[in-house]
Amino acid sequence: MEPDPNGDVLLECKDQNSDTLTTFRVSSKVLQLASPVFTGMFGPHFREGQLLQQGENPVIRLEEDDASSMSIIFDILHFRGGGKNDEMDAERLARLAIHCDKYDLAKALGPWVSVWFENVKKTMEPSEELGFMLLAAHLFDNCGEFQEMSEMALKILPLGFEEEWESQELLALLPMGIQDAITIRVKRTLDNLQMELQNVELSLRYSIRGYEIPQRMCMLCGRTLPEVAKKCHPCYNSDLLVKYCTSETRIAEYFAILRKVELWPTVQPFGNSSVADIVSRIARAQSDLKHDCTADSSCPLIVHMDTLTGKARRIEKGIIGLCLRCIKESDGWEDSQRCNHL
Ligand SMILES: [Zn+2]
Ligand SMILES: [Zn+2]
Ligand SMILES: [Zn+2]
Repeated sequence: MEPDPNGDVLLECKDQNSDTLTTFRVSSKVLQLASPVFTGMFGPHFREGQLLQQGENPVIRLEEDDASSMSIIFDILHFRGGGKNDEMDAERLARLAIHCDKYDLAKALGPWVSVWFENVKKTMEPSEELGFMLLAAHLFDNCGEFQEMSEMALKILPLGFEEEWESQELLALLPMGIQDAITIRVKRTLDNLQMELQNVELSLRYSIRGYEIPQRMCMLCGRTLPEVAKKCHPCYNSDLLVKYCTSETRIAEYFAILRKVELWPTVQPFGNSSVADIVSRIARAQSDLKHDCTADSSCPLIVHMDTLTGKARRIEKGIIGLCLRCIKESDGWEDSQRCNHL
């Protein structure tokens, strides 16, 4: 490939996946302007630099570098960038970030970084690719993206995401403690939500007033009949009872709706769901609740379900991502840390 057809240096890299060798003809001057690492490599202290000064074109094998990442970088540095943006995905972006970090190119590639992030965000499968995005944001030293991606992680990663991350070799490059920090925070948020869920039961227990329900019940077959029914026809029973909304029926109804949206029993959903998932189930419980008594919207069941949904939404909304500055300053993430950057 010839990012610069008149270039004075040939760089060879292997493709990570196919092992094929690609040779790039590049301009040593351009690379020196962009990267202090290349400045050194082509300077007078190395053989390559000396060859250049003698007017020869050195061939340099960059053993550890991935050809497809370097190809994007060389194209951009030689004003030929843009063509490969469609192929960008989270893992590719993370690899690119590793190479940019190695050659100290974050400044030279500055505006491209935002373009890549926007492109990947449009197409990525968040729960699987957030680790790569966090790694890329860290290596590009992009505080804003890091915060946004970690905020998303805190909301949509279910506990147990660690296993998936540990199977990805690249993610070992994430700064110490990030994974733990996410786990601890997700767990804490889930605990909060679970506590709110249980508090509703207590509140329902304390509101003891009963209200009439505009329905009748046949004691023989257990059927619920409309308020105007005079008789249960299948049973020939005209001794129909009034139904009541009481503390006990409200609690029973509460747990029934939780069970329906799979929030009860709590062990499983809270052990393997994300915060966003739990909050949306709570909202579904509220909207699926078909309760009708003479208290209307001031029935304790309705009131407490509304409060619960509001609280759950606020908990999710209140989640703030991690600060990359703090992580870099203290060489990892400590949960007790106070941030003055965001
Ligand atoms: Zn009946
Ligand atoms: Zn009621
Ligand atoms: Zn901070």
